[in-house]
Amino acid sequence: MTTYDVCVIGSGLVGTSTANALVRRGAGRVLLLDRGSPGCGDSGLTFGMVRRHYTNPVLIQLAMAGTEILADWDAQVGVGGSGFVPTGYLLPVPDHLVATCRAQVALQRELGLETHFLEPDELCEVEPLLSLDGVGGAAYAPGGGVCESRLMILSWLADGLARGLEVRQSADVSSLLLEGGRAVGVQLASGERIRAGQTIVATGGWSPELLAPAGWAPPMALGRIQVAVLRLVPGAIPPAAVTSDAVSNVVVRSAAGRDIWVVAYQPDTPLIAVRDDCQRDLLPGYEASIRSALAARFPSLANAQLVGGWGGAYDHTPDWHPLVGPVPGITDLWLCAGWSGHGLKSSPAIGRVMADLVCGSSPTIDVSNLAPDRFVRGIENRCAYGPGARA
Ligand SMILES: Cc1cc2nc3c(=O)[nH]c(=O)nc-3n(C[C@H](O)[C@H](O)[C@H](O)COP(=O)(O)OP(=O)(O)OC[C@H]3O[C@@H](n4cnc5c(N)ncnc54)[C@H](O)[C@@H]3O)c2cc1C
Repeated sequence: MTTYDVCVIGSGLVGTSTANALVRRGAGRVLLLDRGSPGCGDSGLTFGMVRRHYTNPVLIQLAMAGTEILADWDAQVGVGGSGFVPTGYLLPVPDHLVATCRAQVALQRELGLETHFLEPDELCEVEPLLSLDGVGGAAYAPGGGVCESRLMILSWLADGLARGLEVRQSADVSSLLLEGGRAVGVQLASGERIRAGQTIVATGGWSPELLAPAGWAPPMALGRIQVAVLRLVPGAIPPAAVTSDAVSNVVVRSAAGRDIWVVAYQPDTPLIAVRDDCQRDLLPGYEASIRSALAARFPSLANAQLVGGWGGAYDHTPDWHPLVGPVPGITDLWLCAGWSGHGLKSSPAIGRVMADLVCGSSPTIDVSNLAPDRFVRGIENRCAYGPGARA
């Protein structure tokens, strides 16, 4: 049986970033497994938004550190690119959330982020397309923007392979190998067994299926989220900033050519029982939600032609913060999943944090409030805007 120092399961943003960080810090023989191909899970479906506007220091710091790496990819990773474009990030809020938003901006500034609270009459300088109906003001961070997940994953893989990372695709892990309360590797669906000193579960929305049979079910639910692609008529002005509107709940960004990507958060999103049940196509009725949300906030975009889109899943926890750390009750088994819609911009930083944890060092960002067993210990992270992807 082959033996590795570390086996990482899942080659999405989180697993690939972690595997890359492990080989970079000389963690020994590292194997990265995926049942499909790199980025075939939710990492290949992301909206691409990079923001740092979160409630608690841990997510703010992960997103800030992640964005620094995205913006400095050549020096930090050295291969490929991140596709990062600092369009600016805008969060318009209704009157009743103005005080909350101001307080969050103040906290983020204390942590070193360049961000401001803008009054309604200042907003058109940042985003001229915005209708101000119902808007009490907005948080603005000029260094927010968009990036490209697939490019990031392929870059980490290429750099990792050059440094000795071993990667296997079409390697479906059917179970974790346990001996006396300790994880000692994995068994593949083919029957092959692979031994590892440490095992990291980075399987996103598939994590419950892998962990529950081992004796611990992660507190996680799966909510469907859809991204619509709309094409503007020639000459139409595209959105400037990436905007997440807390009034209409529409999220908008420019994409390639004349395309824009739009998400309309649904108040009654149905949960999915298992990740494989998540439909890839847009559901009937979504176009109408998109158009009415756009009409409220971006009237000039509301009639753009719908040309495509896709659906994926948010693997969200009860407090919409991820599960990062040792799996309760099983030694040498780590979890980094449940990213609740925040995994893209946090992935460059969380890979390094995971490498530190697994190698026994203290990470530069304190992730103790993300411990997988926090709910049974009475720790629940606050969400300033209520439970949800805004976290
Ligand atoms: C539509 C959509 C839009 C989003 N937009 C944003 C955004 O704008 N900004 C942001 O920060 N985040 C965003 N997110 C969230 C972000 O995409 C996720 O948090 C992130 O991709 C999670 O990465 P992951 O590596 O944990 O999971 P995944 O990318 O899902 O990777 C898990 C991997 O594990 C593999 N796997 C599963 N089971 C097994 C097994 N048994 N054996 C082997 N391999 C296995 C899968 O094949 C998969 O490749 C969005 C998510 C969605 C769905």
